[in-house]
Amino acid sequence: MTDFTKTRALFDLPEGVCYLDGNSLGPLPKAAPARMQTMLTEEWGKHLISAWNACDWMAMPRAMGDRIGRLIGAEPGHTVLGDTLSIKVFQALAAALKLRPERRIILSDSGNFPSDLYMAQGLCRLIGGTYELKIVAPEEVEDAITEEVAVTLITEVDYRTGRRHDMPRLTAKAHEKGALAIWDLAHSAGAFRVDAAAGGADFAVGCTYKYLNSGPGGPAFIYVAPRHAEQAEPALAGWLGHDAPFAFEQDYRPGQGIERMRVGTPPILQLAALDAALDIWDSVDLDALRARSLQLTDRFIQQVEATCPDVTLATPRDHAQRGSQVSFRHAEGYAIMQALVAHKVIGDFRAPDILRFGFTPLYTTDADVDHAADTLARILRDRLWDTPDFKARKAVT
Ligand SMILES: *Cc1c(COP(=O)(O)O)cnc(C)c1O
Repeated sequence: MTDFTKTRALFDLPEGVCYLDGNSLGPLPKAAPARMQTMLTEEWGKHLISAWNACDWMAMPRAMGDRIGRLIGAEPGHTVLGDTLSIKVFQALAAALKLRPERRIILSDSGNFPSDLYMAQGLCRLIGGTYELKIVAPEEVEDAITEEVAVTLITEVDYRTGRRHDMPRLTAKAHEKGALAIWDLAHSAGAFRVDAAAGGADFAVGCTYKYLNSGPGGPAFIYVAPRHAEQAEPALAGWLGHDAPFAFEQDYRPGQGIERMRVGTPPILQLAALDAALDIWDSVDLDALRARSLQLTDRFIQQVEATCPDVTLATPRDHAQRGSQVSFRHAEGYAIMQALVAHKVIGDFRAPDILRFGFTPLYTTDADVDHAADTLARILRDRLWDTPDFKARKAVT
């Protein structure tokens, strides 16, 4: 059983700040600065280029991939880190389309994050022909999986509403129709136990800077099911995905299994920060995590609904359909969130009208939940959001 007061003590959380945005950018693990400092001065500084061997830098993307593999239910040896999530979406899609050459439709839903949809649109334009991205409402996905669909590209938890898809069910339907399933775990990895292998995922991708706390720019991960590992054809045929990168051959040959999903030089400094973050994750019991997450989100929903009549819950009440965030709608959501931030309650706003709050058991307490709900109630009751400053939009929301 994980003691979440102990895990909270492992993060550097600014005094007086109620942080409910770890679903967008996780906070700094206290051990990360020293880990990065050692990487800088002891490894890079002292060993220079020989650190690739002496410090095993080249093995880090696979070794850490396996530690993330435990969180997402992947078989060991089939997850690797690198690049950003958008790139990993592109890789997974391109490989999946090649595995279903007679089909032309990529199926996604309108709750997906735009970058996933943009990557799919860009890929369709690049390969030309009659490839098409079909976007349906989240509740229509299951019926839209037909024998024309090559691959489903679904983000398990909706970044706006926190609504969670039924991964095993949709994957089973995809397989029944002869399609492949790519799951984007951006808001799942570190939010609850994912069973990528047991759920039948053909590919899974996700990022590490949200619930996993690797810091801004932390690398993404990709999982390829073992049954596809030697067939998946890499569209981004970088040298580190080559079977023998240091043979410097003229022609590309894909590496063994998941190695082929590597592209170029791994982000070693970011991996040092991720290493410190994963030290915390290694000891977390994922069932305890989920139980605690549901307690926190239930508590917040109950309190806000009791005290804030003007907002509407956008997150499902049903536990099975909920990730680890809670969202409410309000037409003045942007200004309200600005007012909350000014009161040191950090959530975020997602267009057009969503107030979003992430609940991360590793460091969110009941006191945080109560304070956030009280502050929101006061801001709404006293119309503290209704100022020109809070209504003026910033570049990053
Ligand atoms: C956060 C997020 C991304 C971000 O992609 P990056 O390339 O890491 O910037 C992509 N897809 C989904 C579903 C996300 O939630």
